[in-house]
Amino acid sequence: TYTIAEPCVDLLDRACVDECPVDCIYIGDRMAYIHPGECVDCGACEPVCPVEAIFFESDVPEQWQAYTAANAEFCSEL
Ligand code: SF4
Repeated sequence: TYTIAEPCVDLLDRACVDECPVDCIYIGDRMAYIHPGECVDCGACEPVCPVEAIFFESDVPEQWQAYTAANAEFCSEL
């Protein structure tokens, strides 16, 4: 799955939402989140993010790794 990390916080550009073919990117109060159970790993969202907030799960930078769980947690409560 893909993960949205810190650069999205308080920016919420939403370009990724328009790209996602399965509509699995959800908008929270301060950032967007990817639903890990719905993401089909197409990669379409990653290059359109203006702040490079989106990473494939194994590429999430060390300091932002907690965001993988945060994406899953937010989406599990939808
Ligand atoms: Fe949606 Fe594809 Fe991005 Fe997954 S990788 S969130 S399916 S655009």
